[in-house]
Amino acid sequence: MRAVRGRRMNRLLMWVVYALCFAGLPALAQSRATLADAARAFDESALRSNDDSAKPMPVRKWMAPIKLAFANPSASPGLVELSRQGVKTLAVEAGIEVIDLTDADAANYVIYFDENGLRGRAGDCSANGWWNKNRVMYKGELRINPTRNRDVDRCTIHEPMHTLGFFSHPHGAQSVLSYVYKAQRSLTPLDKHLIRTLYDRRMTPGLAAAPASQLACRILGERLGSTAADIEAVCRERKGPVAGL
Ligand SMILES: [Zn+2]
Repeated sequence: MRAVRGRRMNRLLMWVVYALCFAGLPALAQSRATLADAARAFDESALRSNDDSAKPMPVRKWMAPIKLAFANPSASPGLVELSRQGVKTLAVEAGIEVIDLTDADAANYVIYFDENGLRGRAGDCSANGWWNKNRVMYKGELRINPTRNRDVDRCTIHEPMHTLGFFSHPHGAQSVLSYVYKAQRSLTPLDKHLIRTLYDRRMTPGLAAAPASQLACRILGERLGSTAADIEAVCRERKGPVAGL
């Protein structure tokens, strides 16, 4: 009786060892791939000029409160709160205070309801952001198109991402900034990691793309619970945005 039980235990132990061996390698590769994908999403969204250019850009971010006002709230009163909440949702993740103003002239962040769109592209929502010589952002602008019935809620979260310092789109990533996952209408877990990485104290405005890419990768590794070995392997050689992605 005892011997049988012992044999069963041994067999069970063998299966456990087998399972660990076979599960171990893919898990290691998977954890590194997850970190590499997140790091690439950061590079593509925050550290390149635009979707069509891998031209490296330094870190740009807000360092002071956003003073938010609406230029023409009466043009679309039903969208005022939705738009305000979009900006505030992101600002909470970034740790940036949002102060509501009624006077657009005193604000550094203005939301317009604009049914004509910019550049003659009716139906578009758009965003703009300005930074000074130290790469500190000091002004933001959203143009929300009230005629965009099908996904105006996506506009009100996608566009403020641009004004926070994510000026490009990581199309391959599970992000509200992706055009591939265009049904995404709220922040994904990855989006929150990206925002908290850009707004980590160690990420200073003006940091060049290559060191910023390595630092972002290390912060993302911490956030994702990656091992020190994975962080070293994935992050050490990063150079920033890569052409052709
Ligand atoms: Zn966009």
